[in-house]
Amino acid sequence: MFVYADNAATTAMSKAAANAMLPAMGELYGNPSSLHQKGREANMALMGARETIAKCLNAEPREVYFTGCGTEADNWAITEGARLGALAGKRHIISDTIEHHAVLHTLRRLEKQGFEVTYLPVHENGMVRLDELEAAIRPDTCLVTIMFVNNEIGTVQPIREIGKLCRERGVLFHTDAVQAVGHVPVDVAADNIDMLSLAAHKFHGPKGVGALYCKKSIRLQNFIEGGAQERNKRGGTEAIPSILAMAAALKESCAHLEENMEKVSAMRDRLIEGLSEIPCSRCNGDPDHRAPGIVSFCFEGIEGESLLLRLDLAGICASSGSACTSGSLDPSHVLLALGMPHEIAHGSLRLSLCEYNTMEEMDYILSQLPDIVRTLREMSPVWMHKLETMEDPYLAVK
Ligand SMILES: *Cc1c(COP(=O)(O)O)cnc(C)c1O
Repeated sequence: MFVYADNAATTAMSKAAANAMLPAMGELYGNPSSLHQKGREANMALMGARETIAKCLNAEPREVYFTGCGTEADNWAITEGARLGALAGKRHIISDTIEHHAVLHTLRRLEKQGFEVTYLPVHENGMVRLDELEAAIRPDTCLVTIMFVNNEIGTVQPIREIGKLCRERGVLFHTDAVQAVGHVPVDVAADNIDMLSLAAHKFHGPKGVGALYCKKSIRLQNFIEGGAQERNKRGGTEAIPSILAMAAALKESCAHLEENMEKVSAMRDRLIEGLSEIPCSRCNGDPDHRAPGIVSFCFEGIEGESLLLRLDLAGICASSGSACTSGSLDPSHVLLALGMPHEIAHGSLRLSLCEYNTMEEMDYILSQLPDIVRTLREMSPVWMHKLETMEDPYLAVK
């Protein structure tokens, strides 16, 4: 059996997205800025896509800016929030310790430029606390950036309340919603969001395209100098095929949001229930604020990377949730932020699901994983040492 359970890394493109992309790669080759019929045709399509995306977010079309990816939208929003703050003499930013590197590394650059950043702790359950956010807001705070859904442990932050608090205190609020859009309800108006980042490839759209929502009252500065595209703010001829496919994918995800959430949550819960039976395992995140598709576990005594290789041999695509992409052996900053010891954070596994997965696949994962964990533990000196020091080792090997 083959199971793709790495949807938080990227998703397969939907048929709807591919069907929107193909004609755009053929007949729709005009440049939307051209005045002739081919240009007008492309421009009409572009306008339609912008409207579709705005509608899905409950925004206005002119508040949607197309970008090259989610990372770009994060960079743009945070850099701008800081620049606007500095204009008013405010150089303090609030974020948290489990953000994506697109956010953390942008903040690090701003710190070097003289901004001060407060990183809110997330506690053992991976949640930001509103009272701690409130206490951190200062007269010179210009921006709060807190992610909607965490990509490693699936925690869903209280975005609406965070947005309300920021609005009351006159602070700009940006959220990295790359794992939220198309997966959980997102409404920029009701959720009091000023700026929001999204990426098409996380909701069955193509790679290399994303968007930034920015409330119309915010005076964004140009991010890429050049042509008049994206209201002058991001020059460069628009990636029409990708943008149309992104709109089609989002429209479909939003139309089926409720049923997908129900289906995916049921598979997630089956996995969590089954994996919890593995001795010395723990499920990361918050049971009451968990994204439908993200399951994160730590298994004591093993290495996440060895687990991934064994799973791959069994036809299961997963992720360790650790910093494997950078080739470093450091455990994930997200798991460490939960207060987890290094040796346990090393044994992490993230299974991320979507509506294309099936219950049979969950059963298959559960038929493979416990044996793989047991085999790896039998080879692990760390685990053998733990067994020797345990009060009731029988429980750990059952
Ligand atoms: C994937 C992801 C990003 C980056 O998006 P790209 O389109 O790959 O640049 C940013 N934030 C979160 C939470 C993500 O999961």
